[in-house]
Amino acid sequence: MGALTKRRVTILGSTGSIGVSTLSLFDEATRQGTAEVEIVALVGGRNVELLAEQARTWRPARVVIADESLYQPLKERLNGAGEGIEIAAGTEAVIAAAEMPTDWVMSAIVGSAGLAPTLAAARKGAVIALANKESLVCAGPTLLETARAAGGHVIPVDSEHSAIFQSLQTACAHRVARLILTASGGPFREWTLQDMAGATPEQAVAHPNWSMGAKISIDSATMMNKGLEMIEAAYLFDTPPERIDVLVHPQSIIHSMVEYEDGSTLAQLGPPDMRAPIACAFAWPDRLPWPAPRLDLAAIGSLTFAEPDPIRFPAIGIARQALTAGGLAPAAMNAANETAVAAFLDRRIGFLDIAATVSETLERMEAVGDLGAGAAGDILENAMTTDRSARRVAGDIVAGLGAAR
Ligand code: NAD
Ligand code: MG
Repeated sequence: MGALTKRRVTILGSTGSIGVSTLSLFDEATRQGTAEVEIVALVGGRNVELLAEQARTWRPARVVIADESLYQPLKERLNGAGEGIEIAAGTEAVIAAAEMPTDWVMSAIVGSAGLAPTLAAARKGAVIALANKESLVCAGPTLLETARAAGGHVIPVDSEHSAIFQSLQTACAHRVARLILTASGGPFREWTLQDMAGATPEQAVAHPNWSMGAKISIDSATMMNKGLEMIEAAYLFDTPPERIDVLVHPQSIIHSMVEYEDGSTLAQLGPPDMRAPIACAFAWPDRLPWPAPRLDLAAIGSLTFAEPDPIRFPAIGIARQALTAGGLAPAAMNAANETAVAAFLDRRIGFLDIAATVSETLERMEAVGDLGAGAAGDILENAMTTDRSARRVAGDIVAGLGAAR
């Protein structure tokens, strides 16, 4: 393999935590002379200030802001420095940016809003570095099949899936017995149920090991993040739910493991820094030399493990059930969770209400036959219709809970 990784790159969600880490990695690797990056498009949601600054630094061919009302502010901030950079805004423009010819697309929009642009990129056959786990949860098989059919690849960026992906890159990657997803346990790992009931958004976003966007931070606190990741792993690695386990590992050093049928377990380790799985997805099948933080196990001293507590963290069980039910249940679960997390961040419901809302949404939709596994028609359309229904049902539940507070 050559020493220089050269890529044309599009970043969907460049202003978020993963987007910023991606550009930081490019900056480091470019300085080292190990990567050459040409940015095709940068896409952000609402943060005009940061998006304009990124565009000035990286000179993409196109810069897109998802919120249409921010077109003019973006244009003004780029004024003068924006020569040669196309500016666009709105949902359609996000999809059009995802379709631009490129080698590598970082999919790092948060939530099911990332599905349509990620699918659009998949149709073009680019390598997709997938951070946006919600798009896999909503329509995993379709997304993977679309990429495959177009001659592209989906390389996981989620640290657990990157670990499993790497632990499967051996000549003897047959006879997998189990995938073991490690979980930090989040900020409430040792809290009582009673204390969790009164947890505030500030306490819930304060993750012990990772600095991430608000939504995934709350998912880590409820452990719905691990539930979403279980579904993500099932699709990515074509593994049934009963062969995927969750193990609490508070130090976040072992990022996940693959147990083979001969009793061997392979794992990938590293300091908790998302630039490592991003680098892996960027250079794959090569490795990217960059000044990565190195693992100092002697300094860490000990690694510990525990079973997750199903009483305080019911979200893992809810996700397992949705995955087993199949069809549109994971899409409904994801949308209900996005709705409930937004309500919790807005202080409209309590922390424990998040999982309760998701579970109740799935029960109500199941009861009226809204989660049919074999629904005919376009999968993206089905997933998005289910997404909207689940948001309505969860919205009603949230309103009821809010009124009762
Ligand atoms: P974030 O909230 O920090 O960033 C989200 C990005 O998406 C921002 O750029 C935002 O502007 C953009 N965005 C939001 N809504 C949009 C829309 N409708 N259209 C276009 N752009 C939109 O989130 P994050 O922590 O960077 O996470 C991004 C994704 O990566 C999530 O799916 C998350 O689960 C996954 N992920 C994140 C981490 C992490 O360490 N942050 C780790 C693993 C996986
Ligand atoms: Mg993860």
